[in-house]
Amino acid sequence: MICLTLTEKDIENNLLQYQKYKKLIDVVELRVDMLEGAIPVDSVIRFPELCEKPVILTCRKVKDGGKFSQGERSRFNLLRKLIKGKFSYIDIEEDMGRNELEICVKQNGIAIIRSFHDFYGVPGDLFKRMHKISQQGEIPKAAVTPKSFADMARIFEGEKELRDIDKKILLGMGDYGVPTRILYKLTGSLLSFCSAPGSSQGAPGQITPELMKNLYKADTISNETAIYGIIGNPIMHTASPAIHNPGFHKLEINAVYVPFLVDSVRSFFLFSEKIGIKGFSVTVPHKQNVLPYLGIISNEVKQIGSCNTVVKTKKLWKGINTDYYGFLHPIQEDLETGNIKKALVIGAGGAARSVVWALRNYGCSVLIVNRTLDSAVKLAVKTGSSAIEKSELAVISMEDSQNRPDLVVQTTSVGMEPNAGKDPAEEYTFSGDEIVYDLVYKPRMTRLINRASQAGCRIVYGYEMLYAQGLLQFKTFTGKEYPQG
Ligand code: NAP
Repeated sequence: MICLTLTEKDIENNLLQYQKYKKLIDVVELRVDMLEGAIPVDSVIRFPELCEKPVILTCRKVKDGGKFSQGERSRFNLLRKLIKGKFSYIDIEEDMGRNELEICVKQNGIAIIRSFHDFYGVPGDLFKRMHKISQQGEIPKAAVTPKSFADMARIFEGEKELRDIDKKILLGMGDYGVPTRILYKLTGSLLSFCSAPGSSQGAPGQITPELMKNLYKADTISNETAIYGIIGNPIMHTASPAIHNPGFHKLEINAVYVPFLVDSVRSFFLFSEKIGIKGFSVTVPHKQNVLPYLGIISNEVKQIGSCNTVVKTKKLWKGINTDYYGFLHPIQEDLETGNIKKALVIGAGGAARSVVWALRNYGCSVLIVNRTLDSAVKLAVKTGSSAIEKSELAVISMEDSQNRPDLVVQTTSVGMEPNAGKDPAEEYTFSGDEIVYDLVYKPRMTRLINRASQAGCRIVYGYEMLYAQGLLQFKTFTGKEYPQG
């Protein structure tokens, strides 16, 4: 079940949120501790009658990530009044102590979710504590904080370790925990919480109901669902789930594509073998880190020394580099017809390596400029290009037309959100004859592109490459063309 956590400051706004998202969810959690001012006891009691969906009553104290700051006696007295409402579940923390509240709750036919929260890690006795709770006839709930990918992977062991517990809730908080929220059915969890955009998150890492229901179709995932994803650090800004998941839906492929925050590539490969991941995209900083784990590599990966797409073949992991082909796609004709012969590449990082090799393989002469000259020189030596100092940019832009570049490619992260508005090549003045290609795709219109477009240059946007490489990845993953329209 997908559960919407309602965290608005009054009951009216909580009802509005419920109405807005009810088609996307199965359950709601009313967070009474997030209500502002005196708790409107009667309105809270009536709340479940105004919802068609089951409601969980929760009043979380500060220590457990909530806002209820009065003492335990007040919380107890408040909950005793509120359970007169037709709530389906009540969330009571593990340390609340067993008292007459439970007797009243059970008499009112409300199921108890007995929860514990760990904001510092994943406790060693996680599964033991959940077993202990279930022996009392209650639904155990653990919300824990994975601090590494290995921690996150341990949460998935819940499926096996807690198999004998019919109803349980087991979720990882924070960015590392996001896959446990999307793939909650694979941890054996009864439900997963989400929060409305613009509302306070009920807990760190909750995503929106639209993403849960429409993008990830989290409630339809089963052991038959093929799992794909993207690994990186950081990763939550990634646009790739919004490319792959709609493609799966249109072709009615039972598959999901999930963002994985990964600190250790080794932990990720171990996890992939365990849960049967079929393929994944790779982004910064892991494009080289994955290489030792690949059994088969394509020619461009061998040449560039970096891989952004990994797929499981029968026994081995195979690595390819779709950045290479994605970059070429919008300018291939210009390269084939000789329209582009000379290129200036700004940056010497991972993306620049794909770009420079692709241009060199088409016989283009390439000048590389980078903040750190040493990296530019190293890339130039490997690829048979030339490296220049940043101060030389002004000189190049004053050259006569035969000596100016036909193509300028911006491959640094400068100008990318959240640092939009910066220009990594201010010294260069565009003549208007260059094709200008900025790999940054967020925002679409970078400062550099804006300057080039005002000078009359032909523009290639970063999203064109992103999209082209994404479609190629999709074909690599599924064997099918990305659906048009
Ligand atoms: P990377 O390996 O970390 O390289 C970063 C590059 O940016 C290096 O050349 C670095 O210079 C330079 N840089 C970083 N901060 C800088 C600053 N403040 N001033 C000047 N230069 C700076 O990253 P990457 O994988 O190459 O990715 C670079 C960008 O390309 C990212 O924005 C990424 O999103 C984008 N990209 C887009 C696509 C697409 O499909 N459109 C595909 C891949 C990448 P130093 O060597 O001096 O550190």
